[in-house]
Amino acid sequence: MSTFRSAVAAYEKKCIEADVPSETVMCYLVELSQQERYALYMNFENEMPEALQKKFDEGMARILSQEPMGHVLGYSWFYGYKFIVNENVLIPREETEELCAQILARMDRIFTEQDSIECADVGTGSADIAITLCKEEKKVRMHATDISEEALTVARQNAVNNEADIDFMAGDMLKPLIERNIKLDVLACNPPYIPAEEKMEHSVVDYEPHVALFGGDDGLKFYRQVFRDCRQIMKPKSFMAFEMGYDQRERMSVLVQEMLPDTSFEILKDMNGKDRMLFVYFGCSSINDMND
Ligand code: GLN
Repeated sequence: MSTFRSAVAAYEKKCIEADVPSETVMCYLVELSQQERYALYMNFENEMPEALQKKFDEGMARILSQEPMGHVLGYSWFYGYKFIVNENVLIPREETEELCAQILARMDRIFTEQDSIECADVGTGSADIAITLCKEEKKVRMHATDISEEALTVARQNAVNNEADIDFMAGDMLKPLIERNIKLDVLACNPPYIPAEEKMEHSVVDYEPHVALFGGDDGLKFYRQVFRDCRQIMKPKSFMAFEMGYDQRERMSVLVQEMLPDTSFEILKDMNGKDRMLFVYFGCSSINDMND
């Protein structure tokens, strides 16, 4: 038997030894106990109930062997919404929450006059972007594509659980949208953008779907594909929003200028100061002042 304090301290130490962030211990305990952090701290000197201790030990063993917490729990939080996650979808990242916030801000400004905003989330995975935009902006009509049927099963369940009305389509990138002749105000896309040879943590490469991670030799394969095809689906006044790798600013800028010379674009930094988001505008302008 151990107190909350001693159990947490012991696992924090083990995390450091195993190269797992030690904050994971409290995050996991909050989820497992269904208690707020402050309530746990108020109980810190008490003995941890046996059933909780058992679950905590089992889950922490998996976390210490590098399994992502989202897989141990079976869910993950994104923009305040709960998403089922498993080995078939990318676990939603904080950077992608920022992408959603930036998209919502621009929708508000650019489409003030419109009653509805036609949107697509390309490579939707867990449908984190699609559901968030739907829930946060009532004018949005959302389409979402993914090449993986297994991912779409998770995405559909997440849409039901979060009561979001989304038109899901199986297919490669923009293909299903083009086939249905859909015309968009906003395209959102967090494509696989890790260069094929890049070394990554075990918790990512061993557990997350490679189809959601790797973007060809230079990581830009899927951007090229979207830039090549996007004119078939983007309305004259519309924008595209992408997540991108922190070290791709130079190459990305060249690619946009080469492939979409008549658009304007901007690259925004994430909360860690890293280049992370690309916005490309057709027939409308950027709002740089929001990021100064
Ligand atoms: N759209 C999902 C996300 O942003 C999945 C992205 C992907 O699989 N590359 O989390």
